[in-house]
Amino acid sequence: MAKKQKSFTDKIAKGTGVRGQVCPVCEQVIREIKVIRAARNEEKDSWRFLESVEKVCKCNEKEVLG
Ligand SMILES: [Zn+2]
Repeated sequence: MAKKQKSFTDKIAKGTGVRGQVCPVCEQVIREIKVIRAARNEEKDSWRFLESVEKVCKCNEKEVLG
């Protein structure tokens, strides 16, 4: 099992509803989504979960959602 994986980061994105804010750049409704990233700690051989709320529109959805 010497398969090399680029990243162990797992992203789970959930929609939290529309707030009605519109991005002035792409004119899309901005969504607030909760992003949970699972990050592996190689030293301790454990996982931790980082939770954050991100504002997503067309400008950055690829970045945020991967
Ligand atoms: Zn935008």
